Amino acid sequence: MAEGAGGAAAATGCRVDLTGRVALVTGASRGIGRAIAVRLAGCGASVAGVARTIEGLETTLKTIREAGGTAEGFAADVASPADVQRVVEEVEAKFGRIDVLVNNAGITRDGLVLRMEDSAWDEVIDTNLKGTFLFSRAVGAIMMRARFGRIINISSVSGLVGNAGQANYAASKAGVIGLSKSIARELASRGVTVNVVAPGFISTDMTDVLPDKLKTEVKERIPVRRFGAPEDIADLVAYLAGPAAGYLTGQVIAVDGGLSM
Ligand code: NDP
Repeated sequence: MAEGAGGAAAATGCRVDLTGRVALVTGASRGIGRAIAVRLAGCGASVAGVARTIEGLETTLKTIREAGGTAEGFAADVASPADVQRVVEEVEAKFGRIDVLVNNAGITRDGLVLRMEDSAWDEVIDTNLKGTFLFSRAVGAIMMRARFGRIINISSVSGLVGNAGQANYAASKAGVIGLSKSIARELASRGVTVNVVAPGFISTDMTDVLPDKLKTEVKERIPVRRFGAPEDIADLVAYLAGPAAGYLTGQVIAVDGGLSM
């Protein structure tokens, strides 16, 4: 694919040229996933956005198309093996290839571990960790055959250092790191890189629900003294998907204003 600046990438001022690439982004209906989908499309990629409903994806698709990009929406529960297999087949049929996979869909069901319901554990592990496994397995096979691929998994600072009240979420996100490093080792010789982005506190629906008092306390603990924006994550994902990152694999990069250092 194109290595220099050109096409849609140049038109949007994107520094990474993804012209001709096809990117599948899960959890693309809002927050970080929407920012990633919009950024990758702005860099020239055709984007397949996944969320539980097509309706939820409308704003993302509209934003991309109005900017001259290419995007299609696909409905799937990332925790469902049947949904994942169907969507990966649909995306391959529609676009003919999948070069970039961003496993971003994620949920929280917070609570102290001693009071945590089994369902809160299962739902979070199934969506955040099993969903990442299912898409990586299905898309990894396509990438291996193509001898090229970029898998970028969204973990969390909670997966690096733990977080009281988030045993299920932290376990799922730490699991994503172990899963990613293992796949990185399995697929490296086939031209497929696998990296992890670990966001800190990013302003989205997920963090908007936190009480104001907690938000203020958290900001005091972040060295840069503010929450990040979804675009801060999207910028790094675009870089990891691009031609300059071909020798970078199995890494975990925290984008957290210095919180986890
Ligand atoms: P949001 O809650 O804003 O968005 C979550 C996205 O995931 C939505 O698009 C939602 O789509 C999708 N989703 C959830 N469950 C499923 C499912 N079972 N199947 C398919 N799609 C699903 O979250 P953020 O944008 O804040 O977070 C995105 C990722 O970043 C998550 O993995 C999160 O853990 C991680 N992260 C976020 C941080 C933050 O501070 N915001 C910090 C660290 C990590 P829909 O509901 O339409 O199906």
